[in-house]
Amino acid sequence: MKLTERFLDFVKFDTQSDELTNMTPSTPGQMEFAQYLKSLLEQMNLEDVSLDQNGYLFATLPSNIDREVPTIGFIAHMDTSPDMSGRRVNPRIVKNYDGEPIVLNQEKKIILSPEEFPELKNYIGQDLIVTDGNTLLGADDKAGIAEIIDAVSYLQEHPEIKHGKIRIGFNPDEEIGLGAHKFDVERFGCEFAYTMDGGAIGELEFENFNAASAKVVIKGRNVHPGYAKHKMINSIRVANNFIAMLPRWETPEHTEGYEGFYHLVGIEGSVEQTTLTYIIRDHDRKRFESRKREIEHLVRKTNMEYPGCCSVEIKDQYANMREKIEPVMHIIDIAEQAMRDAGVEPRVQPIRGGTDGAQLSFKGLPCPNIFAGGENFHGRYEFVSIQSMQKARDVIVNICRIVADK
Ligand SMILES: [Zn+2]
Repeated sequence: MKLTERFLDFVKFDTQSDELTNMTPSTPGQMEFAQYLKSLLEQMNLEDVSLDQNGYLFATLPSNIDREVPTIGFIAHMDTSPDMSGRRVNPRIVKNYDGEPIVLNQEKKIILSPEEFPELKNYIGQDLIVTDGNTLLGADDKAGIAEIIDAVSYLQEHPEIKHGKIRIGFNPDEEIGLGAHKFDVERFGCEFAYTMDGGAIGELEFENFNAASAKVVIKGRNVHPGYAKHKMINSIRVANNFIAMLPRWETPEHTEGYEGFYHLVGIEGSVEQTTLTYIIRDHDRKRFESRKREIEHLVRKTNMEYPGCCSVEIKDQYANMREKIEPVMHIIDIAEQAMRDAGVEPRVQPIRGGTDGAQLSFKGLPCPNIFAGGENFHGRYEFVSIQSMQKARDVIVNICRIVADK
């Protein structure tokens, strides 16, 4: 089977994950897909094909050289986003894209247009796989799965390309933040790995946010408003002051690149009590820590004015994988060279969020992220370029070759 056919085959499986089920995998469709992939990997005669009860599927392409070469892995996730249905995906190939709006659904007037999605202009002349407007596509991350399988099959057909032991890992529930959760890094047994879960061609990511949440609780004192003078403390108004004391421009809607922020994600209040929920994000560890201290400082400041009224609970959520990648920067060099050898210009950029790879890196498996080729993830406008998928496949093959060359 060719790469495109593999991909079109995989998107038929409804593998939408669900954060509310408290199961692993969170939905049965993911296990069905895992079992299907397992039989596929067995048909390819891969070794150590194993699917555990949590839906983690591992397999090995054995080394074809005598020398000791680091074991490396390629990882992709099987689930699709809870944001949009992945049931009965009905993909269509737009050959030799001409740069004009693409009608996804005539009846519902759903159009994928370069006016709204200017990045479409980068794909003129390429072949795009799009949806029928009713579902997402699932290129995130079935493109990654198809690319890994195709690369392995390519290496099997080309024994002249020398490589060490290659491990494959397909995991459930990335989209609900639990993909790395039950990933058995020891059993995977790799020196380092790459997630094939990035977007457009050239993407290479090894930095993500440091992340924490802060819950600020402000207690007020309610008194009949007619008799409230010098007695009432309106916690909503105190909260309003608190909000205003944080830097006004350090919010998601005013920041980009490496700029961090405080993001007020929730507010619930009455005169008696108001709760503010923030998320705090920064790539830089020192600035991240000082953001947390700033929140604590404002809590103390508020308490000076209204003694004992204000408290905060700060919880770390995830950390920037950069500190785990820096000691092994050669794995970034390898990925960059693999891209250049495939005719792809690497575009290193910080992730303004978290990734499974970050969690895996902190579990002892350094794991940068490489493009899978899709765009507009998690919705009906998702599409993937066949040429980008082929390049991603080539990058995987090149990485295997370069690691064995060193
Ligand atoms: Zn993904």
